[in-house]
Amino acid sequence: MADQKIKKIIIVGAGPSGLILAILLAQSDIPVLLLDAALVPNDNPRAAHYAPSSVRELRRCGVLAEVQQEGFIPEGVCWRKPDGEVLGGIKSDPSNPDSMVCLPLDRLILILLRRLGELANAELRWGWNVVGVKGTEEGDREASVTAVVKGGEKVVEKADYVVGCDGANSSIRKCLFGDSYPGETLSSQIIATNVFYDFHRFQYWDSQFIIHPTDWYMAAKITPSGLWRVTYGDIPGLTTEQYLERQEMRFEQILPGHPKKGEYRVVNRSPYKLQQRCVGQMRKGRVLLAADAAHLCNPFGGMGLTGGIADISTLFDCLLAIHTSLTTDAILDKYSEVRIKKWKEVIDPSSRANFRRIWDEEEGVRREREEYLERCRTMESNVELRKVIFASTYMLDEDMTPYFTKPTS
Ligand SMILES: Cc1cc2nc3c(=O)[nH]c(=O)nc-3n(C[C@H](O)[C@H](O)[C@H](O)COP(=O)(O)OP(=O)(O)OC[C@H]3O[C@@H](n4cnc5c(N)ncnc54)[C@H](O)[C@@H]3O)c2cc1C
Repeated sequence: MADQKIKKIIIVGAGPSGLILAILLAQSDIPVLLLDAALVPNDNPRAAHYAPSSVRELRRCGVLAEVQQEGFIPEGVCWRKPDGEVLGGIKSDPSNPDSMVCLPLDRLILILLRRLGELANAELRWGWNVVGVKGTEEGDREASVTAVVKGGEKVVEKADYVVGCDGANSSIRKCLFGDSYPGETLSSQIIATNVFYDFHRFQYWDSQFIIHPTDWYMAAKITPSGLWRVTYGDIPGLTTEQYLERQEMRFEQILPGHPKKGEYRVVNRSPYKLQQRCVGQMRKGRVLLAADAAHLCNPFGGMGLTGGIADISTLFDCLLAIHTSLTTDAILDKYSEVRIKKWKEVIDPSSRANFRRIWDEEEGVRREREEYLERCRTMESNVELRKVIFASTYMLDEDMTPYFTKPTS
């Protein structure tokens, strides 16, 4: 049988997706070199909630117990009016081993970094800005990256495969496809903040969406010590400075108790544009893309990293099957096809619907919102419906074994 063993994989980007892939590969005796342009991990307010499908991957990485211990399992999510009235909600089931877990991404990254440090097959280099990639032609027998390191020196590293996990502005994606990232930037503007404020005083659940045409927002507790993520909307077209200046006024307008400066403590804030985008191909020769480097969606409903980790899960299964001669590297074309289909059929439509549900008063959206909230109310007393809805959270997973083709000798 042909020797398919993988000798080395280069992963570009030590964000959550790159780190999880590196851990899964290194644990399976596949050597990895992880390169990141930054000198320290990113600590902007981003992901905090990890869905059941991601929980399973954290378990496969050997970090779930630590994540659960440092984070917590939210009691549930609800939708409410600005006056506080609850319109419907979904309670979580802490007895389920895959229950959603909550921990700010910067802390998850530290746990993943510690785990990676325990693995002999993994090497991580900070301050390696990857600017070029080769190995994109069919028939190429190896891949390589060119990185600019401290002092401006250019260094080339070679491997069997290169995986671009380098986020929304991926240089690997740009090397493959230029500046084109198919999709759209939504007109809405969001500001994500991390804030200490006692929402439980207003009978707030651990997570909620407040429905209003202009004063919509999400408020979710993200640490057991009472740090909350408040992500709210503002008028489009202002500068970052203007959004940050308006934050106190917006909090007083929209939050329960209409707090003034000094009645809460903001520890982090960052305006974001919302993107719905996906590449047309996640593989070119020996170069692959995953997670934000390959697709983006708005954060309402937490489909961003959830979709990214689902890519990593599928990609790892494929690479391991190549390494152990269960299939040929043609499986990587299937990886690309399957993950793009999941984005088009699940991630894009459901993340758009999650977002529009909290502000759009258009007739069709109002109807969908009513039906959705009615389903939530029914679920409270209907165990069977709860099971069906919970099972649907694994929709992003794909069993790749039916696509395996035995290598010929
Ligand atoms: C406000 C907000 C809230 C969110 N909440 C959730 C949530 O609750 N649940 C959820 O699932 N998702 C959520 N998301 C989405 C989630 O944060 C992202 O999908 C996730 O961070 C993407 O991870 P990644 O590893 O693909 O990319 P990134 O986290 O962006 O990491 C990319 C890494 O690549 C490195 N890099 C970049 N360019 C280069 C280069 N040229 N060379 C080398 N390295 C490079 C960067 O330094 C970085 O370390 C949220 C996003 C936002 C904005």
